[in-house]
Amino acid sequence: MKFYISVDWEGISGVVSWEIQDDIKSPSYMETRHRMTKEVNAAIEGLYEGGATYVLVNDSHGNMTNLLIDDLDSRAELIMGSPKPFSMVEGLTSDFNGALLLGYHPSAGTYHGIMDHTYSGSSIYKIRVNGEPFSEGDLNGSFAGSLGVPVILVSGDKSAVDSLMLRFKGSLGVISKVALGRNTARLYHPTKIYEELRKKAKEAAKNSTYLKPFCPDFPITIEIDYTTTQKTDIASILPEAERIGPRTIKIVSPEMQTAFRRMLVLIR
Ligand SMILES: [Zn+2]
Repeated sequence: MKFYISVDWEGISGVVSWEIQDDIKSPSYMETRHRMTKEVNAAIEGLYEGGATYVLVNDSHGNMTNLLIDDLDSRAELIMGSPKPFSMVEGLTSDFNGALLLGYHPSAGTYHGIMDHTYSGSSIYKIRVNGEPFSEGDLNGSFAGSLGVPVILVSGDKSAVDSLMLRFKGSLGVISKVALGRNTARLYHPTKIYEELRKKAKEAAKNSTYLKPFCPDFPITIEIDYTTTQKTDIASILPEAERIGPRTIKIVSPEMQTAFRRMLVLIR
């Protein structure tokens, strides 16, 4: 059985702000890279205990060079760096049995959500798919669903995990912290997170055979609200983008691959 891990950073244990990442040589940033790698390793361990024969990991945060390959479980393969045509779901194909979204965060505008944003905090106010607000995790998991791959396990702060588990029915969740504000949280100890990830990844691998992938209806309509009218001016240059409001553009695509790539261009 083949499994895919997309790992973001904001939902990793011990992380509550981007400040520690400003200096990539700072000890606190290195500590979070170690913790991120350990969380991924715990999930890989559990997946293999649950029957995995192959695991592909996609580093999905920032410049996408966060994971420490020397410390990564040697059974896994790693996609690192950016840009990538499919960004946080690069390398995901229909022959995978399940996808894991680890270290994820809530969408922009979430009340009490650690580092709430949707792809770009400076550019994007909100994204809707077929009229419904979607987070990064919702979008990435929908991409997986369009390939017939179910989301089997999610992790991150409580608000992110709760909403993703509602979206991806039957997926399991590991909560690393409970937000008290955008940059404040009650944290669970990393060792507890590693153990829970291992146990739930094992269970999730076994569940993967009967979970139903989630995918939005097609044609798919994506509306993007930008933070400024100037950014919307720029986005509306793309011929496929219809401006439907001062800060809103709309794209309609016949299938997910095209929709996703158009969206990735527009959020940049
Ligand atoms: Zn991130």
